[in-house]
Amino acid sequence: MSNPLAGIPADKETVQALDRAHVFHSWSAQGLIDPLPIKSAQGSYFTDYDGKTYLDFSSQLVNVNIGYQHPKLVAAIAEYAQTMTTIQPAFANDARSEAARLICEVAPGDLNRVFFTNGGAEATENALRMAKLHTGRHKVLAAYRSYHGATAGAISMTGDPRRWGAEPAMPGIVHFWGPYLYRSAFHSATAEEETDRALQHLRDTIMVEGAQTIAAIILETVVGTNGILVPPPGYLEGVRAICDEHGIVMIADEVMAGFGRCGEWFAIDHWGVTPDLIAFAKGVNSGYLPLGGVLINDAIAATFDQRVYPGGLTYSGHPLACASAVASINIFKEEGIIDNARRLGADVIGPELAKIADRHPSVGEVRGLGVFWAVELVRSRTTREPLVPYNAAGAAAAPMNEFAAACKERGLWPMTHFNRTHVVPPCTATEQEVREGLAILDEALETADRHASD
Ligand code: PLP
Repeated sequence: MSNPLAGIPADKETVQALDRAHVFHSWSAQGLIDPLPIKSAQGSYFTDYDGKTYLDFSSQLVNVNIGYQHPKLVAAIAEYAQTMTTIQPAFANDARSEAARLICEVAPGDLNRVFFTNGGAEATENALRMAKLHTGRHKVLAAYRSYHGATAGAISMTGDPRRWGAEPAMPGIVHFWGPYLYRSAFHSATAEEETDRALQHLRDTIMVEGAQTIAAIILETVVGTNGILVPPPGYLEGVRAICDEHGIVMIADEVMAGFGRCGEWFAIDHWGVTPDLIAFAKGVNSGYLPLGGVLINDAIAATFDQRVYPGGLTYSGHPLACASAVASINIFKEEGIIDNARRLGADVIGPELAKIADRHPSVGEVRGLGVFWAVELVRSRTTREPLVPYNAAGAAAAPMNEFAAACKERGLWPMTHFNRTHVVPPCTATEQEVREGLAILDEALETADRHASD
């Protein structure tokens, strides 16, 4: 097998220089960034060109659920590439058929069809379109503190600052507040209050928007980038009931929370709720190749039995990407990866983060499940003032940058966002790796403690 990069200089300086000259990076001022060149990755670690290895507590963008270079997954991709590297979506293909079957098998309820995409944004984008066409209504309710992707509809549904640059956004999208007890929009003191009040707020929003105009409610089952917000008991059940009452499609965005991240196949399994559509991506094949999709229930699928679904992608159900999903799901089953994620959360990350919270005045709250946790950093535990302001940049973000630098110096790659660090290692991480990472986090938090007053 010939290496396509044979003969190209592989030193750090060349990689860096070509990147700076020709690569345009996401979400960045191009002149202000200095991307770290990465040479290799294995398991829960990746290594730079200076030979420094980092334990990955970010799973890249919370997608490498199976860890890096899983030998069986790499072999499966190489093997299937010998058979079929591409075939367009109008044909039937064995890898696509089997991937769809396996994904439906692990999905709840009657989610029996899959529309494949290349990633998460196209998944939420198509879920939005399906819901509108199925109901004949034009509005969608989406939560603040959410991220649904960067294409036109997906970014319009997003409830965080990433949407601002894309505004004016797609018409018909209305944002509401979801539950978040630590910073309750409803002044709740208990989880029960938060559930009741967040559901009442949703009902009120529907009342004033007009239920007959609303096609869908989309929410991240467990909110990811915006804070690992685990819904309080009864909330998702309540959203399901509201959707049923008004004929509104319930869309669960499981792009980040799905495929083992929360210690279940889908995060929503924790609450026994069946949404009408599930958007997935990331963990379905750990990003070894780009893949996402929408799981569709029987009723919505039936809408498009005799009526054309007006949507498609050249690479919908890409055979090689689908083959990697087949291999990945089977490896998850063979190796008990979901059980591992659940155990790590319950036995290691949860208890250890609770101890860390006790020790550090800068830790306001820790929360999460599976391998999906947030440590929320504050200047005061009494006032809950965030360690850095919402959407802070430059000097205002310095305390978080100092904390991240302290982790990296010690060989831990953290995932920081606003005033939080998320603990999101691969689902395949070992207990020892997780303990090693948490010990570094513990030390690095001393940088944040310097800014905390009580
Ligand atoms: N939805 C959620 C919950 C996400 O976390 C993301 C990405 O982080 C997306 C959608 C968009 O996925 P992609 O970046 O693959 O388009």
